[in-house]
Amino acid sequence: MQKTPKTLHFNIITIFPNFFDSIFNHGVLKRALKNQLIDISITNVRDFSKNKYKQIDDTPFGGGPGMVLMPEPLFKAIEQKKTVHSYVTYLSPQGKPLTQAKAKKLASKKEIILICGRYEGIDQRVIDQYVDEEISIGDYILSGGEIAAAVLIEAVSRFIPGVLGNEESKTNETFSQSIGLGFPQYTKPREIDGMEVPAVLLSGNHKKIEEWRQKKALEKTRKVRPDLLKKL
Ligand code: SAM
Repeated sequence: MQKTPKTLHFNIITIFPNFFDSIFNHGVLKRALKNQLIDISITNVRDFSKNKYKQIDDTPFGGGPGMVLMPEPLFKAIEQKKTVHSYVTYLSPQGKPLTQAKAKKLASKKEIILICGRYEGIDQRVIDQYVDEEISIGDYILSGGEIAAAVLIEAVSRFIPGVLGNEESKTNETFSQSIGLGFPQYTKPREIDGMEVPAVLLSGNHKKIEEWRQKKALEKTRKVRPDLLKKL
């Protein structure tokens, strides 16, 4: 009997729900949503503000610049979405790096809650009370967690069986190979402005093509990311 594919549920908690209006409406993610391999819900933190001005941020205790997202509306938003299956993440520059290995691990969850911070971040008590893992998409500062949440959803979804049309392309990708980075790709035409496609790729000799690709991937990894070679 064929196994019914599971759906991975992503619940985004944000103060800017309209940010995501078109972002999931293209390509691989659009198809994954249509085929119910993933499901994305967006919760507006402001809906949980008890203040008539829909206030969700306030000044930090102890002083300092900027504002901090208040705990109460976030508590309520999380409580509304949280189930026994939820894995609660907070997108944060102080989090563990989102790598291909982490994306693969997250793809095995049933539900992921993604808390998007803004301004100077969120009240620490939200992290203490609810967050299973803080995740960073890189060593730089963004203005909010929304772009980071979209990056995570895309990277994780690619690991769900059926999301990519050609399952093989996942194993051929950069970081998925023992060699580290990917190999150069060419398509038609064979020649443009005097630049030709390497002859080996036109040879039809699959063994030679594979060797050439491995060699090129290794050369590139040595040049661009020698740190990856140390990890192999
Ligand atoms: N004051 C914080 C600090 O120094 O760590 C930076 C806050 S940042 C301006 C606002 C929000 O953007 C954060 O709460 C977080 O949700 C998100 N964010 C910023 N950089 C990020 C990164 N590299 N990865 C994931 N989320 C990030």
